[in-house]
Amino acid sequence: MKVRFWGVRGSIPSPGPNTVRYGGNTTCIEIRTDNDELLILDAGTGIFPLSQTLLGSLPVTANVLITHTHWDHIQGLPFFIPNFIPGNTLRLHGAFNPVSGKGVEQVMSVQLQYSYFPVREEEMKARIQYVTLAPEQSVQIGSATVTPYLMNHPVVDFGYRIEADGKSVFFTGDHEPSYNIYNIDEEGYAQYQLFIEEKLATIEKAMHGVDVLIADSSYTEAEYPSKKGWGHGTFDSCIQYAKMAGVKVLYCTHHEPTRSDDALEAVFAQALALHPRQPKDPEYRLAREGECFEF
Ligand SMILES: [Zn+2]
Ligand SMILES: [Zn+2]
Repeated sequence: MKVRFWGVRGSIPSPGPNTVRYGGNTTCIEIRTDNDELLILDAGTGIFPLSQTLLGSLPVTANVLITHTHWDHIQGLPFFIPNFIPGNTLRLHGAFNPVSGKGVEQVMSVQLQYSYFPVREEEMKARIQYVTLAPEQSVQIGSATVTPYLMNHPVVDFGYRIEADGKSVFFTGDHEPSYNIYNIDEEGYAQYQLFIEEKLATIEKAMHGVDVLIADSSYTEAEYPSKKGWGHGTFDSCIQYAKMAGVKVLYCTHHEPTRSDDALEAVFAQALALHPRQPKDPEYRLAREGECFEF
């Protein structure tokens, strides 16, 4: 299996001289099975450069898995160039939206309104299919088994476990570890605590023993209190997940848009200093646009 990062930035694209090393595109991760099946995790702006590389090997079948519909995870979708070329297939997977009462077909149809984009969905030349997924219901995509898990974010967010060829990867999308919304002396605290423990058990199952965990580590511990409830994790929470689930490699991603490359390396080094690696601990890495990891 191969994992290639095309966008590792959170919230908004952040190009410029201060982000050259880790990149400014928003979330997009290419997964290739050993059979060369193409799975794409999220369609942030990173999907545009990815789509350019596909033009040399058309026709293409792209299985896009959307974690959730915040802009930084779907903004590149209308710019996925194979959609404009007959013979290609785009299979878009994602969650049912309880607010709109619609499935994943709504994601692109909203983006492709004339007010926002000059080409309508009906004018796209590729075959476009929609697969609305349900939590913890696995689907088969070629040789890959894909299982969505509900994460904790202000909108429905699926984390995806992908297993193929005896290898596995889990991507959280945007995720903040659940915390108790009650004070310890309030009624409801104990019951909410049970809910949190159930969520944690599900997340442990989702990530358990994967070769590669790719996780939302937007903030430092020091920044977190002022961002609590925004739906993002910290370097520390990701390291704790990686240890708990016994993963082999952790990639921290969804880098804060205002963070320069130097600042990113500095806060990452600080987080690692608090968690010195023991022999059986996971390997900790910063996701970097353009990096490819084969395992
Ligand atoms: Zn995001
Ligand atoms: Zn989000």
